[in-house]
Amino acid sequence: MSSSDKHLQANLTSLSERITAAARRAGRPTESVTLVAVSKTFPAEAVLALARCGQRHFGENYLQEALAKIEAVRAAAPGLPLVWHFVGPIQSNKTRPIAEHFDWVQSVERLKIAQRLSEQRPAHLPPLNVLLQVNISGEASKSGVAPGELPALARAVAALPRLRLRGLMAVPEPTDDPQRQRAPLAAMKALFDEQRAAGFADWDTLSMGMSADLEAAIGQGATMVRVGTALFGERVR
Ligand SMILES: *Cc1c(COP(=O)(O)O)cnc(C)c1O
Repeated sequence: MSSSDKHLQANLTSLSERITAAARRAGRPTESVTLVAVSKTFPAEAVLALARCGQRHFGENYLQEALAKIEAVRAAAPGLPLVWHFVGPIQSNKTRPIAEHFDWVQSVERLKIAQRLSEQRPAHLPPLNVLLQVNISGEASKSGVAPGELPALARAVAALPRLRLRGLMAVPEPTDDPQRQRAPLAAMKALFDEQRAAGFADWDTLSMGMSADLEAAIGQGATMVRVGTALFGERVR
């Protein structure tokens, strides 16, 4: 094993310990939290190194980079059952490769995008797992549907035949202060529970929590955390 592989393995071990500790504090089993390793800007070799340690879920933001990486990983390790999540902004003319090459899309915020993903999902693949991204901090520049518009979007997306709507995703405004991290995360959990009670009882995924706030997110009910920096190191771009 190379020294950078050892480094990744050590990061994965300490991250798993953080997740386990946070889940225990919340009175939940560790298995109730899925770790998505966000490998954007890092090479296929880093994905393969983590995959050799047992990591299965990987997240990507930039489509061209992601497609090349998925291809390289498949070529190097055919048959490795990795699960790819698209978590970045989606342009409507780029939906086809997303529908063809990913297992999950976490960043759906408009019906038009969802319709295209549903139409373009290949027939030989299972329905595409989808989360609706919510703009929970209300920042003008941030992606995501406004909480008030979520119920209508959820009903429309749930009706699309080739998508499987699984829940919600958010990227709250970053802060290192655990007190200030909590409010938007709690608001997401409330929205998630409201929608489940309003007819989406089958929703099983609340994706929130990144390197800096995963403890707070798990404390507020996250079932999926998306972690880049704490695994791969600082991104240079
Ligand atoms: C980059 C990114 C992450 C990972 O963020 P870190 O702070 O590096 O852990 C998670 N989710 C999304 C949507 C991202 O773009």
